[in-house]
Amino acid sequence: CGIVGYIGTEDAKEILLRGLEKLEYRGYDSAGIAVASDQGVSVFKEKGRIANLRSAVDETKKGTVGIGHTRWATHGAPSQVNAHPHQSTNERFTIVHNGVIENYSQLRKEHLQHVELESDTDTEIIVQLIERFANEGKTTEEAFRMTLSLLKGSYATALLDNQDPDTIYVGKNKSPLLVGIADGVNVVASDAMAMLQVTNEFIELMDEEIVVVTRDNVQVKTLEGENVARDSYTAELDS
Ligand code: GLU
Repeated sequence: CGIVGYIGTEDAKEILLRGLEKLEYRGYDSAGIAVASDQGVSVFKEKGRIANLRSAVDETKKGTVGIGHTRWATHGAPSQVNAHPHQSTNERFTIVHNGVIENYSQLRKEHLQHVELESDTDTEIIVQLIERFANEGKTTEEAFRMTLSLLKGSYATALLDNQDPDTIYVGKNKSPLLVGIADGVNVVASDAMAMLQVTNEFIELMDEEIVVVTRDNVQVKTLEGENVARDSYTAELDS
């Protein structure tokens, strides 16, 4: 399983699909991408090979921001509905996640009693919690940090907000995640190999950190919202 993300100047779809192909070695049962533009967020996902996903993607939906995922199901059977990305009920938020949320049923009982869930995944809880906190007046970054603070388990995750299609929010705990940096382009990946097509300069995240990623900036923060300074390194790998 794996995660990719791209924010830059080119159409994101092909970059995300190529990135996911580089992560195939990690194993997966389904795959999906979401692409954001000023016209909104489009989600494509399919059970099975990335080749299936490729043929399901609508070429006319273009956007220079996007996230992608290969899933290895832990909660909910491999299926199109359970494939990532997942969206919140009002479709404002779109998320991909690798890992396992151990307390998802408790979080559901405590915070999401009246929310109808679309999938059987633990992941959908994350995106529904974010929507809930945003509806209560939190900024997206606050809602994201608050939600991650409540999670027990492992996650590498990337979030899009259709009200701000120029930002990707990422977070991690006990699952790998890197942010790649270039000039006016930034990327996200579980493994540097997926994004060597764009850059070989990366920053590593520590557990319980988030990153607010825009085209021109990458800001690492703690779950409490404190800025963290982190140097980048050059990945010495052949793509
Ligand atoms: N637990 C999540 C699910 O079953 C993510 C699995 C993964 O890491 O791909 O959908």
